[in-house]
Amino acid sequence: MRNLIVGAGLSGLVLAERLANDRGEEVLLIDRRDHIGGNCADKDWGGILVHSYGAHIFHTKSPKVWEYITRFSLFYPYMHKVFGLVQGQLVPVPFNLNALYAIFPHALAKELESTLLRTFGFGSRVSILELRKHKELEMIAEFIYENIFYHYTLKQWQCRPEELDPSVFARVPILIAKDDRYFPADPYQGIPLEGYSAAFAKMITNKRIEVRLGVEFSELGSRGIDVGAFDRVFYSGAIDEYFSYKFGELPYRSLELKTLRLEREYFGSNSVINYPKNYDFTRIIEHKYFLDTKSPHTIITYEYPKKWQLGDERYYPMPTQAAKAAYEAYANEAKSLKNVFFIGRLGAYQYYDMDKAIEAALNLYASL
Ligand code: UDP
Repeated sequence: MRNLIVGAGLSGLVLAERLANDRGEEVLLIDRRDHIGGNCADKDWGGILVHSYGAHIFHTKSPKVWEYITRFSLFYPYMHKVFGLVQGQLVPVPFNLNALYAIFPHALAKELESTLLRTFGFGSRVSILELRKHKELEMIAEFIYENIFYHYTLKQWQCRPEELDPSVFARVPILIAKDDRYFPADPYQGIPLEGYSAAFAKMITNKRIEVRLGVEFSELGSRGIDVGAFDRVFYSGAIDEYFSYKFGELPYRSLELKTLRLEREYFGSNSVINYPKNYDFTRIIEHKYFLDTKSPHTIITYEYPKKWQLGDERYYPMPTQAAKAAYEAYANEAKSLKNVFFIGRLGAYQYYDMDKAIEAALNLYASL
């Protein structure tokens, strides 16, 4: 069988790896960019691995996904924590009982803690949308909404939290415990020791996989490659682009990342610091923390959200009901195509984390 894989992001890489290594099939893997790895790619900048498209922390609940990805790299046991600037103080995000004590006077924090424990139970994870439904917790709910979620969400998505799919806020639930980790529910976490791009290169080291970079899907014909000659096509580009926007453009969010090298050992105190309010950027990433790299200099990235426009990289499908409905027209159209599979964040129009992208690609592979 001959397979064409469009897009060398995580989903395309998993399919290429499985098809070639497990089934011995031929794969042509193309990407319009000049590197593999899509938005998970990283790059060495003077000894510091920089996540070129924003912070990527591998985390999963799935032993199967973890077993799969760790075939290609050793993982540094990094446990992600995020701190957010709230009223001049850095507090853990997602908001938790430590944040409560950092912000409020002790007696008030104790009282709120008791009510939270009574209402939800120790260790529970509560979405801000759920917390706001509880009248007796109105003060703390409104504080968290205003200081953590409202302005950040306006910056990130250009809409209010209530307009988004609730699953967005289920990603960062308030934790009724004192665990500062960003992904406390995921037992497997880490960062590839040599970086993502190195792990990805290992995934596709097989002579049956031909990689062509800097190649547009639309120009394959003019390069003498007949798309119709492949037995299967896996497309991880934007599904609306594939269909020439016949049902209109789907909305995406993009980012502008400004990366700076600073001639000092550290800039801040953590890998990711969120600025939920009062700044145009949402986060500052300090890359050396991911692998605990020691160096006299540091590299930081400011993350500015923006609306996607032609020519920008797509980062996120828009998680709203309206966008999902618009996508359905394309999904229906896709069903009529035999042996063309739409994969990844952009092909499936899903806000996948890395583990979910891998899981979906492995499931698709198993179903072929
Ligand atoms: N969010 C927020 N404040 C924060 C962190 C997250 O309002 O300090 C909201 C925001 O809408 C964000 C969403 O929760 O887009 C999901 O956050 P996550 O960190 O999972 O986003 P990602 O890393 O995927 O951009």
